[in-house]
Amino acid sequence: MRRRAVILLALAMAITWIPAAAVCEEQTSVGFYFDTVVTVRLYDPDSRLMEDIMAACGRYENLLSKTVAGSDVDRINTAGGRPVTVDHETWEILTRAKEISERSGGAFSVTVAPLTAMWDFTEGTQRMPSDAERLVALPLVDDTAIVLGPDDTVTLPEHMQIDLGGIAKGYIADRIADLVRGRCAAALLNFGGNVYCVGIKPNGQRFKVGIRDPQGTPDSVFGAVSVADVSVVTSGVYERFFIKDGVRYHHILNPATGLPAWTDLAGVTVVDQSSMTADAAATACIVLGSEGALAFLTELGLDGLLVTNEGQILATPGFADKWVQ
Ligand code: ADP
Ligand code: MG
Repeated sequence: MRRRAVILLALAMAITWIPAAAVCEEQTSVGFYFDTVVTVRLYDPDSRLMEDIMAACGRYENLLSKTVAGSDVDRINTAGGRPVTVDHETWEILTRAKEISERSGGAFSVTVAPLTAMWDFTEGTQRMPSDAERLVALPLVDDTAIVLGPDDTVTLPEHMQIDLGGIAKGYIADRIADLVRGRCAAALLNFGGNVYCVGIKPNGQRFKVGIRDPQGTPDSVFGAVSVADVSVVTSGVYERFFIKDGVRYHHILNPATGLPAWTDLAGVTVVDQSSMTADAAATACIVLGSEGALAFLTELGLDGLLVTNEGQILATPGFADKWVQ
């Protein structure tokens, strides 16, 4: 589907944004954090807001990235079984991650880290684990083993590791949304597939967030949701992948096998006020497959849209209300 007014905001992202005519001062900045393009559009912001947002992104990257030495995640991963005192925000994310892991039957597991570390979906080396390496790592995947103690302590059994790639961007989107509320009329935040639409645009219109067609080119959308004050998060198997010997390997892993989650789903979009919940839930849905995903979304009271590998579209009843062609 083509629309004249479509502006692509994300390069390697599932989401495009379709703007209406602006009626006030708009400010847009693009940054690179969390291994992804971050786009922030503010409507009538105060003079320091954009600067504060980018500073917050830098702070969160230093707190939550597993590749930043000294980050909370790095300290947890290298603690060798000893308790680590972390920032309360890290502790909160892990609390929610454990809940979603439990409710998804382990489909979402931040302890999938030893396995994600064996794959390369970004650098182009097509590295993947041997069967033996994979089988050795599988017993290390178990979010119930993360012990969250009092005073923001985290204890992880020796050799286990965490990777917040499936939930951190959602948490950060929530916090940046909090930061902008009251300091600008409205905002559109895009953290690589995690979109947060804050408020209603000054011209009175809701935001439209386009949903990418998993079978199409990165700029093809097959519809959009019309929303206000809510987050729209998409996970797709087309985001980061490589093809080897005719097999497509993508970056969302099945924690039970350590292999890419090859289910009937190509893309999942979840809409919720909590971008953190929507982020983790969208990742879990890809692993669960359509039947499990619909049951999971219903049980958590979340609205979602599922696109199968064959292009079939399934949605929860609440999602249909937001859908615009
Ligand atoms: P993206 O980060 O591309 O927006 P997702 O939110 O779906 O996509 O998160 C995928 C990332 O989450 C992976 O790059 C990896 O770091 C991590 N991950 C992969 N599989 C799982 C899983 N089953 N549960 C939790 N995190 C996962
Ligand atoms: Mg996710």
